[in-house]
Amino acid sequence: MKAIIFDIRSFSVHDGPGIRTTFFFKSCPLRCAWCHNPESHHPGIQKVTGTYKIGQSSVPCFKQVGEIITLNQAISKAEADRLFYEESGGGITLSGGEPLMQADFVIALLEAAHQLDIHTAVDTSGYAPESVFKEVITKTDLVLFDLKIMEDAQHKKFTGKSNRLILENFKWLMRQKTEVIIRIPLIENITDTMQNLEAIRAVLKSTKAIPRIDLLPYHQTAYNKYKQLDLTYGLKQLPNYPIEKQQQIKTYFNDLAPVVSIGA
Ligand code: SF4
Repeated sequence: MKAIIFDIRSFSVHDGPGIRTTFFFKSCPLRCAWCHNPESHHPGIQKVTGTYKIGQSSVPCFKQVGEIITLNQAISKAEADRLFYEESGGGITLSGGEPLMQADFVIALLEAAHQLDIHTAVDTSGYAPESVFKEVITKTDLVLFDLKIMEDAQHKKFTGKSNRLILENFKWLMRQKTEVIIRIPLIENITDTMQNLEAIRAVLKSTKAIPRIDLLPYHQTAYNKYKQLDLTYGLKQLPNYPIEKQQQIKTYFNDLAPVVSIGA
C-alpha cells in the first residue's frame, strides 16, 4: 500500500503530545486563503522550478514536491523514532494537506501503529465524507481538529468550501470518546472577528470537555512557497499576526480548556 506525502518531520513538538513524527500527506479539498502548506494542494508529485545562488549568479534548478511512501516505509520511520516517543509520551501524527484524502493508507498506518503500541494523532480539517471520517476517527487516539470560520458564506469565501460537512463531522466527533485538540487559525479580519470568535466559543461551550486549544497565528513564511509553486497568494500583504491580539484571544478562550496555547 502506498501514499503520496510531501514531508516527514521527526522531533516535532507542535502536532500533539510529546515528541512526534509527523507525516504530511498531499491533497486537500480546501483552499484556505492563509494556507501555510500550499505544496499539499496538488494531489500528485510535482516538479517545480527554483533558483540557487552561486556567488552573485542565480542558477535555475528543479525541485520535486511530493514522494511515494509505502506502508512499510512509514512504519519503519515510526519505529526508528520510537525511543523518543517512549521518553516524551509522543507518537505519530498524520497531517497534510488533508490526510483523510488518502484514507485507506491512513487507516492502515493507524492500525499498524497501534499494533506496535505507538500513540497516534490525526490532524484534520474535518472535510471528508461522513463514513470516511468516522472510520478514521475510531482508529486514532487523538484528533487535532481545525475550527476556522463558523459562518458558512464566509467559510466558502475564504476556504473554497461550505463548512456544513465539517460541522456535522465535528458534532459527531464531540460525542465520541476520542481525545480532541481544537486548532484555531488567527487571521486578521477573517477568523478573528468578534462574531467568529463568539461563534467558536459558543460551539465549544456546548460540547464535551476539551483538554487543549491551540491558537495558530498567521505568519508570512509561506509566501516563497507560493512563488515557487507558481500559485497566487492572496494574503501576501498581510503582516504577521499581532502579539497583543494573540494574548487577548488566548484570554478569551482561557476558561474553555486547561491548556490554551499560542503557536504551533
Ligand atoms: S485545510 Fe489546511 S492544508 Fe488544506 S488548504 Fe486549509 S490550511 Fe491548507
